[in-house]
Amino acid sequence: MPNEGPRRRVAVYGLGGTIAATGETGGVVPALSADQLVAAVPGLAETGIGVEAVDFRCLPSASLGFADLTDLAAEIGRRTAAGELDGAVITQGTDTIEETAYLLDLFHTAPQPIVVTGAMRGPTLAGADGPANLLTAVRTAAHPSTRGQGVLVVLADRIHAAPRVRKTHTTGLWAFDSPDTGPLGHLVEGVPRLLTRRAGERVTVAPDAVRGRPRVALATVGFGDDGVLLEGLADRVDGLVVAALGVGHVPEALVPVLDALADRVPVVLASRIGAGPGLAATYGFPGSERDLLARGLIRAGFLDPCKARLLLWALLATGADRAAITAAFAAAGGYAD
Ligand code: GLU
Repeated sequence: MPNEGPRRRVAVYGLGGTIAATGETGGVVPALSADQLVAAVPGLAETGIGVEAVDFRCLPSASLGFADLTDLAAEIGRRTAAGELDGAVITQGTDTIEETAYLLDLFHTAPQPIVVTGAMRGPTLAGADGPANLLTAVRTAAHPSTRGQGVLVVLADRIHAAPRVRKTHTTGLWAFDSPDTGPLGHLVEGVPRLLTRRAGERVTVAPDAVRGRPRVALATVGFGDDGVLLEGLADRVDGLVVAALGVGHVPEALVPVLDALADRVPVVLASRIGAGPGLAATYGFPGSERDLLARGLIRAGFLDPCKARLLLWALLATGADRAAITAAFAAAGGYAD
């Protein structure tokens, strides 16, 4: 089913992960090149899309770091600005896709889509999903309808927006979901069909403005938590995201700890639930969302804790001040009005 018009050009950047993992004994490890991944996809040549395979990294996705992603964003930014690509695909481990896709989304301003994909079953297993996911990712990246939609995540025939997608199952082929919105669209007979588009203001930062390597911690609050892990934290980090209970609550014992931290570094209040917004103006007890926001914590809104941590990292790395951080979270968290 060749696309009409000039031949579309998509670069596939291989980063490793299960989609590229092989091995006989001792467990599988990322090993296949981007060329090998592309060659293993039935029907890719028949799409008529010009595919260029690039070996960028070959790592488990847990071991990718900020420098890998800023380098990748800069490379894709340079090539899209030069008009060399109609879209880019990234193949990587699924463990961190919800995070890498969002970090790339913060850096990506070009209209050409970046599509991140991976596999839940590696190439040595029956029913490996990597080739199908790569084929659909390339088709999505090449299709004119996905222009201007930022970074997308495509697995299991579903197209997700980077700010909304989450990994919600450890092993299932259906592991990715966008709990607050549902997917943007689906692959239907190999064609990306968007049912909806991204809403709200895009928040972006320039990758070439990244100066430092801030350290941003993520602390999940549990029942009866006394904050032992937070002691002395302000001396070791540049920012903190709190994955709080429910709509943004912590035990009363944590209030003075977070109050003191928020005087020293930006502290973002997110919810550990994984779907739904943090609130701002409902509960009035010590440790409630009202109490914590009045003490200077910054509301994450609809951003989940992992994505809130990346936004705070990107803002701190580009020298944003307190007002800019607050405004960016209001926009990204869906409560700027
Ligand atoms: N489940 C992960 C994957 O699907 C493990 C490996 C990784 O994230 O790199 O790729």
